[in-house]
Parts: sequence; structure tokens; C-alpha cells
Amino acid sequence: MSLHFKPLFRLIVPLLLLLAAIISLNYLSEIPSDYVKLLKLLPYGLFVIVIGLSHYFNRSRFFSAALLMAVAFWLIQNRLQTNLEEALPFYLFTTVSILLPFGLALLAVIPEKGLWNRHGIVPILVGPLLLTAACIFVSTGGNSQLHAIFQLMPLRPYPGLITSLYASAWMGITILVSLCYLLIRNAEAESSFTICIVLSFITLAKFDQLLISTIMFSAAGLTMILSLLKSSFEMAYRDELTGLLGRRALNEKLRGLGSRYVVAMIDIDHFKKFNDTHGHDVGDDVLKIVANHIAETTGGGTPYRYGGEEFCVIFPGKSLKPCAPHLEAVREAIGDHRITLRDRKTRPKNAQAGAKNRNQKPDKKRRKKTVSVTISIGIAERTDLIDKPDQVMKAADKALYRAKQNGRNCLVQ
Ligand code: GH3
Ligand code: MG
Ligand code: MG
Repeated sequence: MSLHFKPLFRLIVPLLLLLAAIISLNYLSEIPSDYVKLLKLLPYGLFVIVIGLSHYFNRSRFFSAALLMAVAFWLIQNRLQTNLEEALPFYLFTTVSILLPFGLALLAVIPEKGLWNRHGIVPILVGPLLLTAACIFVSTGGNSQLHAIFQLMPLRPYPGLITSLYASAWMGITILVSLCYLLIRNAEAESSFTICIVLSFITLAKFDQLLISTIMFSAAGLTMILSLLKSSFEMAYRDELTGLLGRRALNEKLRGLGSRYVVAMIDIDHFKKFNDTHGHDVGDDVLKIVANHIAETTGGGTPYRYGGEEFCVIFPGKSLKPCAPHLEAVREAIGDHRITLRDRKTRPKNAQAGAKNRNQKPDKKRRKKTVSVTISIGIAERTDLIDKPDQVMKAADKALYRAKQNGRNCLVQ
């Protein structure tokens, strides 16, 4: 599995929100008290919107995160606006500082399974129920062993830091775990939950700052709303298998093109035969590899999955000649890519056997089988005669047909 750092770009907008929240803390003393009452309701309002959108977009993890944050905010507002040196608020504060980041990191780890089904209900309930139950238990006295553990986590270990060292380190670990899952999955939810842990940490670490929980939890609500909207955009516009933009995005792009552009139609050669020989699952893996190469097209081209094993690249503001070398580079890269087939029959049955195999010297008989695929490309540009996007697409399609006739694995203009 190769890790890319592109998913970190998903953190840019939430981090800007975080920055805005931190800056706004300096101006809060000027807000009239009537507005402060309203401001304290803002996080609840935002979490209700997250819950509504999660229901609409069938997202159990966002639903659960909003519930969890709402429970934590209620506890902070109604049980923790007091002297934290007293036993009960101290126990509750420590419980929140352990379980809130734990619940959010857990949501970053588990996969999304949709909302209203057997698998979706579990993540909805685990975090918020755990936090609520633990806080009720602690509020009703807890037990002496638990109190002894809490005593190991004294607050204010350093000037300016309120959470205990253990709780701070724990939050650091949960941030790292959710960051790892952001890198692995490259999805909006993981970036959102990572930032929510950071916002929770800032709230608890700087707990005596005026209105800090209201501001940070509002930022968390906004982050989740933006992430939900962005992921719904991705659902509508991105192709799930390849991660490329899909047909809907292509149609919108075509409507907005100017008077100069180039369209390239790309088709994998003999792909039906490839599927018949190696199976549809291997075919899907190869489609992803081909899409990754097409996604790297240079020269200002935007790639789309047109449908099936066909792709399209649009070069706005360009003419034919300068685009061709960029597409040739992609064609050559795909042809040169030796794809290792995972042999389903000889695959180890369990992890132990797999590890044993990896320690063995390469055996000629077990040498991995590699295959490759090629693509054909047809390109066309907008001219005075062919001036409608669908005409240019048709011309690119005809060029692609000629490329197939010419023996495939080539580019035809
Ligand atoms: P040519 O070189 O003329 O393009 O031959 P071809 O076999 O690639 O062309 P054809 O259009 O006859 O077949 C396209 C095949 O692509 C049919 C189908 O098996 C395969 N295909 C389309 N979409 C997918 C997909 O999402 N996954 C997989 N695995 N195969 C797909
Ligand atoms: Mg085809
Ligand atoms: Mg084909």
C-alpha cells in the first residue's frame, strides 16, 4: 500500500476555521451579554444541522460525532463551569478529556456503513452512550480504584496547560491515529474528526479562557457541515472506483468551455479479453491503475472517467499540438507499467503463512506473474467548423476509432 500526502490538503479549510476560531477568542470580551447567551446555543444548532445532513446523506459517523460533541458540550456548559479543583468536576473533566478524543478517533477508524441499518446504528450509539454512561457513573460517586487512577492525572501540569499530561498525550495519540486513517482513506470524515479532536484538545487545554468551548465546538460543527457538503459533492461528481471526476462533472465542464480547447478520448485496448482472462476483480484493479496514470496527465489536462473503460481528458485554452506529447507520455507510462497479479489460488490462507512466505527466498515456480495493458487515444480540438462540445467529442471519438484501426496503443489526431 503506498501512502500519498494529498489527503492532507483536506485539512486546509478546517485548519483555516481553527485559525479563525483562535483569532476570534481575542474579541469575545466585547460581545454584549445578551448575544453571549445566543452564542452559547450556536454549537447545538450546528450539531443539529450535522445530524440532519447525516440523515439526509446516510452518514452514520458524522451523526455519531455530532451527538458525541453535543453531549460533551452539554457537560462542559452544565457541569464543568465551576472550580475544577473540586473532586466531582475534576473527575468529570478527566473523563471527558479521555473519552471525547477516544470516541472521535474510533469514528475515524471504523469504516462508514450507512446510517439506518444494523451496522450503522452501532457507531451512532457507542461514543455518545459511553461518554454519557461514564459521566453518570462518575457523578454518582464512581469507585475508589477509578478515583485512584484520576489522582494520577493531576490538572495544570504546566502553566497554560489545564489537561493532565496523560490526557494530553492521549489526545496526541488519538490525533495521530485519525491522521493515519486520513492518509489511508483520503476521505472527508477522517479529516473532520481529526480537527474535532484538535478543537476538543484546545478547549480542554485552555479551559479557563472565556467562551472557549462555545467557539471551538462551533468551529467543530462548522467543520463537520463543510465536510458533509464536500463529501456529498464528491459522491455526485466523483467516480467511486477510480476517484476521477465522473460524467456529470464532465458535462458541466463541457458547458463552460471557451473558444479554444482540446478533448482526448482514451480507451483501454482489448479490455474485454483482459477481464475474460483474469477476472473482473483484477480488471477493476487495472482500471484503477490506468486511472492513476491518467490522473497524472500534465499540460493542464483535467481527466474524467467517461464510463466503463473509457476516459476523457479536457485541455481548456489549448490547441492540439502542445497537448499530444502530454498524452503520449501517459500512454507510454501505462504500457510500461508491469502489473503484478495476485494469484488467488496460491495466496496464503492466513497472515502467518503470508509472513512465512515473505521470508522465503524467491522461488522460480512462485515467481509473480505480471501483465500490462495499453490504451488508444483520439484527440480533437474546437475549430470554427467543429464548434459545439458534443461535435468536438464526436471528432475525438472518431480519432479514437482510427487509433484502434491503426493497431491500438497509439494516439491519433
Ligand atoms: P477495444 O480494444 O476495441 O477497446 O476492445 P475492448 O475489449 O476494450 O472493447 P469493448 O468495448 O468491447 O469492451 C469493453 C470492456 O470493458 C467490457 C467490459 O468487460 C469492460 N469494462 C467496462 N467497465 C468495466 C469496469 O468497471 N470494470 C471492469 N473490470 N471491466 C469493465
Ligand atoms: Mg470501450
Ligand atoms: Mg476498450
